Amino acid sequence: MGPGDSLDLFLPEMGDLLILGVTGGIASGKTTVAHMLAELGARIIDFDLLARDVVRPGEPAFGEIVGRFGDQVVAEDGALDRKRLSGLVFCDPQKRKMLEEITHPRIVAAFVRQVREMAGKNPRGILLAVIPLLFEAGLRHLVHKTLVVYVPPGEQVERLMRRDRITRKEAGRILRAQMPIQEKVGMADFVIQNQGEISETRREVEALWRRLEEARKRTPGAV
Ligand code: ATP
Repeated sequence: MGPGDSLDLFLPEMGDLLILGVTGGIASGKTTVAHMLAELGARIIDFDLLARDVVRPGEPAFGEIVGRFGDQVVAEDGALDRKRLSGLVFCDPQKRKMLEEITHPRIVAAFVRQVREMAGKNPRGILLAVIPLLFEAGLRHLVHKTLVVYVPPGEQVERLMRRDRITRKEAGRILRAQMPIQEKVGMADFVIQNQGEISETRREVEALWRRLEEARKRTPGAV
């Protein structure tokens, strides 16, 4: 990452943009909650999409990854076989680090570009950065405040099994590879409980939105 790519949260060109990092465990409801906040007026930057964009064929990261991991990570259509790549790094911390060193700086640079663009259009806006690995990947500095979407691990397993049609064993294995959601709750500025009905989650999200907006009215720039 070049010196100009780091995100200075107090750049004058950012106006009073508030960046809220949304995270949680796999299938805990980050996307669901982000959509609710978007309906209320927030803008969204999804790190999963950025992560996909930076490894498209023709992007520098694509060539670097193929150079390190070989043609086995290229799918028949010429794009990166992300599933294969995930499989290769899942149990190998060194390979995972190698991959992250290629992708993370590009993802952060793309994020910074989008933040600047949004700040130009709506300097008083609330921007959601949906970052599944916000804490694990050390990305806390990219956002002003953090929101964890919580469901108890048992419910997380159920939802993951249902949505991705996988076995309990597979779901458990995925969960065990992640930072426990309880630990993330301990680090969060805000928590939305998403174990109940969607309507209850919506009520919590609306209350959070009001709180964010009111605090910003009282003290511009503050949450
Ligand atoms: P991922 O980590 O895979 O990106 P996510 O955290 O974005 O997932 P969602 O995709 O929002 O999670 O939700 C996971 C699944 O749980 C989806 O199938 C969604 O429809 C369902 N879901 C979300 N919230 C609730 C809820 N309150 N009650 C029942 N099902 C829910």
